[in-house]
Amino acid sequence: MSRVTLVSFDIDGTLEVGEPPGIVPVALVREAKRRGYVVGSCSDRPIGFQRALWERLRIAVDFTVLKHHLGDVRTQFVATAYYHIGDTEVDAFYANAAGFSFLRADPETRRLWPSDLFAPPPDGHRS
Ligand SMILES: [Mg+2]
Repeated sequence: MSRVTLVSFDIDGTLEVGEPPGIVPVALVREAKRRGYVVGSCSDRPIGFQRALWERLRIAVDFTVLKHHLGDVRTQFVATAYYHIGDTEVDAFYANAAGFSFLRADPETRRLWPSDLFAPPPDGHRS
């Protein structure tokens, strides 16, 4: 029996490599991959931009979609849990509309994310 978790990442204002940079380190995306999660990006950035970003980071993502197509991801992948991590009300809106749990990428609410979703950061990166 497999329990698949799917995590969608917004880019701008969410990932540390976004514009503006967000609180989510690229290491967290790698951790999600390492855990076998279905991982991808859902952003207002064009698909070509999203793909180039992941290629540059050398992370093989499972999907890259525009924000209003998050529902397609839900249809495309069977998972036991669907999360969208983003920084705005627009993210929250599309996450809810697509049946995803919305995790807000801000320092205040980061601690409210499910504690078992990602491993604690490696020792070397603890602040
Ligand atoms: Mg954003």
